[in-house]
Amino acid sequence: MKKFFRTAAPFIVPLGLLITAFFCLSRLEALSPGLKWLVGRLPYILFTAAAILSWRFNRSRAFFIVLVLAAGELFISAAPVLLHGNKSAIPLITTAAAMLVPINLLVFSLLKERGVFTVWGLMNAAFIVLQTGLVYYLLKSGSKVLTTINQWNMIPWDIKIPGQLPQLSVLIYIAVLAAMLIRFIATRSYPDAAAPGVLSAVFLAVSLNRDSLAIPVFFSAAGVIMIVSVIQDSYSMAFLDELTGLPSRRSLKYELMKLSGKYTIAMLDIDFFKKFNDTYGHDVGDQVLKMVAGCIKDVSGSGKPFRYGGEEFTVVFPNRTLKEAIPFLEELRETVSKKGFVQRSADRPKNNPKNGRGKSGTGKQLFVTISIGAAEKNDRNRLLDEVIIAADKALYRAKKKGRNCVSR
Ligand code: GH3
Ligand code: MG
Ligand code: MG
Repeated sequence: MKKFFRTAAPFIVPLGLLITAFFCLSRLEALSPGLKWLVGRLPYILFTAAAILSWRFNRSRAFFIVLVLAAGELFISAAPVLLHGNKSAIPLITTAAAMLVPINLLVFSLLKERGVFTVWGLMNAAFIVLQTGLVYYLLKSGSKVLTTINQWNMIPWDIKIPGQLPQLSVLIYIAVLAAMLIRFIATRSYPDAAAPGVLSAVFLAVSLNRDSLAIPVFFSAAGVIMIVSVIQDSYSMAFLDELTGLPSRRSLKYELMKLSGKYTIAMLDIDFFKKFNDTYGHDVGDQVLKMVAGCIKDVSGSGKPFRYGGEEFTVVFPNRTLKEAIPFLEELRETVSKKGFVQRSADRPKNNPKNGRGKSGTGKQLFVTISIGAAEKNDRNRLLDEVIIAADKALYRAKKKGRNCVSR
């Protein structure tokens, strides 16, 4: 259950915003024309804020996603005016946006962070402007390309698609959504959870009634999703450890400041990790760190896990005595020792480490153990620093006792 909520957490804001936008839509229809005009301008205000934020926080992927959204929304709103209200062009404008915006969202969400005001960034911006110009040219010149796409029944079934969108655009939406979800499963990051939300907002904007406020409302929702994602991403960079995803030492500092009353602090250290690195290489070492961190994330007893640094971790148990916390730490120690780790590359090992046991099969199964030292706040250790020093000393004793054990 804990795991499910951890995986689902990044989707809460995007999904919540889409649902809110959906329910707001019908209510907004009752607004006065002046307020409706304001709603129509809302996406640009949000896109500007999102662009400034992503530029300042060096999130170039987010910046270009916002640029794609702005170009899409501007095109949908301005093209009918520029084409002098040519009624037959309107479904074609929507078709073009419904296909190109999702493809661009996918492209830009897969790119690496390579800066906004760089040659690369300018090329990205030019790519977006060029596409917009090209579609406008196709519409203006009366080209049949968009009409053909619009009438093309790829699947020979008569499926009613909202917004008179062509089948192709629905297929593109499904394919892009699937690709984005696969990417999220691989990264579990907030920006990769925002991408399917933004995509769905765009799809809803173009498939709902064109005369309603669906376009500004759902593009606004996409703008807010981007703002929240940039803030959450920056928060992660500041407070989460990049390799393991655990809260970092900076988070620990703030957690420790909140402690009062009784509490227990445990220091954890991987046994013989240097030897492990030397034998299997730093990359395998990193994968082991992730595996151990994964176990520590699941610690029971409301323990809060942190990566202290290197191969050392901290678990804080607010409101728990040492006696209460020890069983949870014993359980964690045992989980790590039994978990094992399948080494993927077969060419790495030079020889067997002391604590690595071989297993036949595709990969080699390796095992690591951890030593734990724990201390509580009591009459002897009244101050936080004293508790931390006591936990450190206990860890030292656990190592001396032969490792793979919990000391107090
Ligand atoms: P002990 O059982 O006494 O703890 O032995 P140890 O070898 O684990 O102890 P030591 O603290 O000397 O070694 C820690 C090693 O952890 C040193 C360094 O190579 C490795 N290490 C620290 N941070 C990282 C990291 O981010 N990735 C990898 N792969 N290794 C790391
Ligand atoms: Mg160490
Ligand atoms: Mg160690």
